[in-house]
Amino acid sequence: MVSNIILDIEGTICPISFVKDVLFPYFLRQLPALLDQYQYPLLEDSSDPIKTILLKFPQDKTATRDLLHTHIKALVDNDVKDSVLKELQGLIWAKGYHEGTIKAPLYQDAIQAMYTWSTHKDKKVYIYSSGSVQAQKLLLQYVRSINEPESAPGKDLNELVSGYFDTNNAGPKIQTSSYSKIAEKINSSPEECLFLSDNPKEVAAALEAGMQSYIVVRPGNAPVESAPAAKISTFDQLEL
Ligand SMILES: [Mg+2]
Repeated sequence: MVSNIILDIEGTICPISFVKDVLFPYFLRQLPALLDQYQYPLLEDSSDPIKTILLKFPQDKTATRDLLHTHIKALVDNDVKDSVLKELQGLIWAKGYHEGTIKAPLYQDAIQAMYTWSTHKDKKVYIYSSGSVQAQKLLLQYVRSINEPESAPGKDLNELVSGYFDTNNAGPKIQTSSYSKIAEKINSSPEECLFLSDNPKEVAAALEAGMQSYIVVRPGNAPVESAPAAKISTFDQLEL
């Protein structure tokens, strides 16, 4: 019997394009005005959280505003996994979410299933995503159904979620031990856990740990060639 459902975010409950088409462009739009607030070369000022992050970029890049802009934009354009960039983006996106400019579009069947499982079926819902736990909570705090217009009021889905896992507290998503660790942390046997993701390598790792798992196919996802598990295209197909 499945008691715990563990959900991936991108490509599973949210379109993959949200990050590329909404979050990245939002960050790049905010960046010029953000950099304009300062004098260059940047000097230490611990009272300013943005400046504190900017100063973690290589020193030769913080000599002028244009050098810094070019450096940050290149990191974004080349999708470089840079921890300083991630920190800066987190701060800027938080502002966008809180102001109501950004809302995460979630598939309606995923929203509905999360409600049903957690409020009517006595099951627990968990998130396991490569985005940080902080970014996961923020995304789920400002949600709209993908069927609703962008101006629809945001819903906070965090109350439906019993716990959050990322690569820091659980480990890499394609590693079997990460799933064993999650089962242990939520005091469950792996057999009582269902993991849903668009990534076949993640699904294979969860299966190997003893969890149940399906591959979720959504519009815009990369085509799945060799599937280690059955595929579903909506959570309505699950009978739990
Ligand atoms: Mg995914």
